[in-house]
Amino acid sequence: MINNPEKINNLIKKLNQVPDEVWKEAIKEVEEEKLEIQTEKLDLKLEKGHAICFDFDGVIHKYSKGWQDGSIYDEYNKNILDLMLLLQKLEIPIYICSTRKPEQIINWWNQQGFWAEAIKITDDITFWNDLKFVGVTNRKLPAQLYIDDRAYKYTGQTVKQFILENSMK
Ligand SMILES: [Mg+2]
Repeated sequence: MINNPEKINNLIKKLNQVPDEVWKEAIKEVEEEKLEIQTEKLDLKLEKGHAICFDFDGVIHKYSKGWQDGSIYDEYNKNILDLMLLLQKLEIPIYICSTRKPEQIINWWNQQGFWAEAIKITDDITFWNDLKFVGVTNRKLPAQLYIDDRAYKYTGQTVKQFILENSMK
């Protein structure tokens, strides 16, 4: 049983030594250990069973040259993949929300050999709570956290504060 941050850190370090075989092997280890991590022990402010949403371009997909021709041309961000895996093992459902067509992301994801399969979040679903699959949608669904490279965290700022925070200094 893994229930201490140090062990998780080591695990994440291992997951970072990519090449595909290492990656798959490390993922298998995670699966086998079943990661019985108690969120309380880690002092995470995240709630089990409540989804976390990931943006695709600039987060999962490195997107180093911007949109280009609309293809998924760049490599994936290993840190984010480690994070997604860890969160799902902590029983936090994860989904991807992007303006891209979900099918494009699903096809790409399912060719990578990641630990879980990606599936489309159908229109009848309001809350994503699946812990087996990674959901993909172009609709904004509720989430306890949105991980996005273009986000602005709104905590009650006035117009003036917004302008100041978004000005060149
Ligand atoms: Mg983005």
